[in-house]
Amino acid sequence: MNWALALWHMSLTKKTKEAVAQRAGYCCEYCRSQEKFSPSRFSVDHIIPTAKLGEDDLANLCYACQACNNHKYTNTATTDPVTGENTSLFNPRLHFWEEHFVWNEDKSEVIGITPIGRATIVKLKLNRSGVKNLRVALKKLGLHPPE
Ligand SMILES: [Zn+2]
Repeated sequence: MNWALALWHMSLTKKTKEAVAQRAGYCCEYCRSQEKFSPSRFSVDHIIPTAKLGEDDLANLCYACQACNNHKYTNTATTDPVTGENTSLFNPRLHFWEEHFVWNEDKSEVIGITPIGRATIVKLKLNRSGVKNLRVALKKLGLHPPE
């Protein structure tokens, strides 16, 4: 995150941040990680980045873990690895997660079932090894996937 973006994020009120977190059930709206099992706090992501004139209101905000937020950076689109075509990234305010992603059999990996799903998995690295290990461990405890 660059300084201009960092300062912009600081301008969000505590109330707005809490509303975004609560709406997301304290889960990352991309990889579905749960904040309560993360060593670092999650952040509020501007779906359309402020650098691309994205608004600072709830309709353009989502809750994201630090890794997803960092990998997304200012991107809103990327290449679908199957078709090679440019496609939008998953937008938690416009799209339903279940329409673009499914879990694999042991729930350790997210599988993209649409161009948007596949492109988002690649760009945000939704199947990072640390996240996969955590999903396996939490699944054994009956704590993954989140409801
Ligand atoms: Zn995430």
